[in-house]
Amino acid sequence: MSVWDRLVGQPDTVHLLQRAVADAAEVPPGPGMTHAWLLTGPPGAGRSTAALLLAAGLQCGEGGCGTCAACRDVLRDAHDDVVRFEPQQLQITRDEAAQLIHLAARKPVRGRWSVIIVEDADRLNEVSGNMLLKSIEEPTPHTIWLLSAPSVEDVLPTIRSRCRVQVLRTPHWQDVATLLEREGVERSMAAHAARAAQGHVGRARALATDEEARRHRHEILRIPMQLADLPACFAVAADITEAATEEAGRATATLDERERADLLQAYGEGATGVTKARIERLARGAVKELEARQKSRRTRAVRDRLDRALVDLLSFYRDVLMLQLDADLDLINEELRPQIAQVAASSTPSRTRVRMDAIERARRLFDSNAQPQLVLEALAVELARA
Ligand SMILES: [Zn+2]
Repeated sequence: MSVWDRLVGQPDTVHLLQRAVADAAEVPPGPGMTHAWLLTGPPGAGRSTAALLLAAGLQCGEGGCGTCAACRDVLRDAHDDVVRFEPQQLQITRDEAAQLIHLAARKPVRGRWSVIIVEDADRLNEVSGNMLLKSIEEPTPHTIWLLSAPSVEDVLPTIRSRCRVQVLRTPHWQDVATLLEREGVERSMAAHAARAAQGHVGRARALATDEEARRHRHEILRIPMQLADLPACFAVAADITEAATEEAGRATATLDERERADLLQAYGEGATGVTKARIERLARGAVKELEARQKSRRTRAVRDRLDRALVDLLSFYRDVLMLQLDADLDLINEELRPQIAQVAASSTPSRTRVRMDAIERARRLFDSNAQPQLVLEALAVELARA
């Protein structure tokens, strides 16, 4: 299996990147290759995978065979000449940009190219973006920048104008199901997970392999049947917020602890002759800063989970609308057809659209830092009223 089989439902992108790899092998590189790329596409479509595959293709002697040491090391994030930066904060900081510039200036040690992958390049702000400009515009001859972001518009104009842009699309659920089957998921589960994830490959994989993820999704899809009165709406909003907060806390706890231990060790914890009180005094500022960073990461993790919940909820009303309009399309939540039919029969297409708009509005509010529980309470009330 070549590395390119990992990117599903994106034939244009695969073709373009393969050509880039082929042209990069020439001296000087052919026109298909360039030193700065911006890969965009909806979440889960595979932009991170695409960046990784281009990196593997460039490091492999065979254009991305998938089996050599170079390919395997890139894919498991362990290649000396491939740096993968995934921002943990809401914005990419000045220090992080400085670090990236430093890494981009290094000569490759194993092959011909040094690849810097920057995920979520939309989080570059004026300061960190400006710092990277020169390096992205005129990198050292062996350096390749691979930036990724949800959409071109999200990225600073000065940055995106210096990159070759490739847009990924949402893959068809059947392509995602085929990928899951290749990874060993049983056929009907692969189909169910791929349909439910609506083209989000990572989400489909989680639903196919993690029972807890399936259970969470099921809870969310029960919401339309639970909005009987005001107290019920508030209860639903509280439940969703609590579940998201808990899940995010679990997901970040291990990393938080390790970072703290590393920090204290750097200040001398464990060394002979250093008292705990002294370390605490010395490290106070740095610990505070770390805690602030961790809090911002946790906030983001909660928001990501809430957004996913709303996407699932949206899929329910999308199905309701399909039944109301008699559209000849598959239901995303086929297993809930009786409940969907019940909601469809008790409302109208225009009321369903009002509900879907309310969900989209709530998603945008999460983006703008609004307090999650308040947003969800307002949403639950709107859904119940419509
Ligand atoms: Zn290879």
